Amino acid sequence: MDGDNGRCTLDGVAADKTGIEWTEATWNPVTGCSKVSPGCAHCYAESMSHRFGWSPKPWLPEHARENVFLREERLDQPLHWRRPRMVFVNSMSDLYHELVPIDFIERVFEMMAAAEQHTFQILTKRHERMAELAPRLSWPANVWMGVSIENGRWVERADYLRQVPAAVRFISAEPLLGRLDGLDLSEIDWLIAGGESGRGHRPCRAEWLRDLRDACQRARVAFFFKQWGGARSKSGGRRLDGREHSEMPRAHAGENTTEDSARI
Ligand code: SF4
Repeated sequence: MDGDNGRCTLDGVAADKTGIEWTEATWNPVTGCSKVSPGCAHCYAESMSHRFGWSPKPWLPEHARENVFLREERLDQPLHWRRPRMVFVNSMSDLYHELVPIDFIERVFEMMAAAEQHTFQILTKRHERMAELAPRLSWPANVWMGVSIENGRWVERADYLRQVPAAVRFISAEPLLGRLDGLDLSEIDWLIAGGESGRGHRPCRAEWLRDLRDACQRARVAFFFKQWGGARSKSGGRRLDGREHSEMPRAHAGENTTEDSARI
């Protein structure tokens, strides 16, 4: 859901490597999506899908049935990766898309529980469905749940995230399109922020990022600044006020890192 321009990353299949700074691998048991909010406008997954012919139509709600695919054959892929790693789930879709049936989501969760050597990171913009389905799923300690929040209109997604009994709850403020006034960071473990990259990238202001960095510091939430964005994801680098911020949540420990955090 969101990494480089809205959704995230680089492949339509499972990838044992990824260009995303805050994870190590991607796993896509679902591909294809449809747009729900301004952060989706330049969805990288949509661009990739069109470039490689994985989904034919623009990612608009009326085309969802032609674009969203359940990839049953990929369900057990993480079981074959022996080395423990951080796995971003559905970098090319949204697991909580309305066309993904609950029984398929249950199977994704069963697989994550079985692949206990890995840590799985799920990110969604479909906060209502995420919260609605949460009681029907079992939440193993190796599953982190996140919501994307791109501007002040969507800070309510954090309230829905608080209803989910995940071991780690995180927010992806990327692409950051405005100040996140009213964002409540209680019971949140980690916040990733970043500007938009690629064609038509929208600006990200330093004061929005500073607000988030300082709010995280006050709330003892781990803060990860991924990128300024620009024509390319690395165009502006990833230093904010002269330093990189690469904090990670201390998984399963119930305590967040601050200054001396674990680093990817
Ligand atoms: S919700 Fe779907 S369309 Fe929007 S950024 Fe994420 S993957 Fe792309």
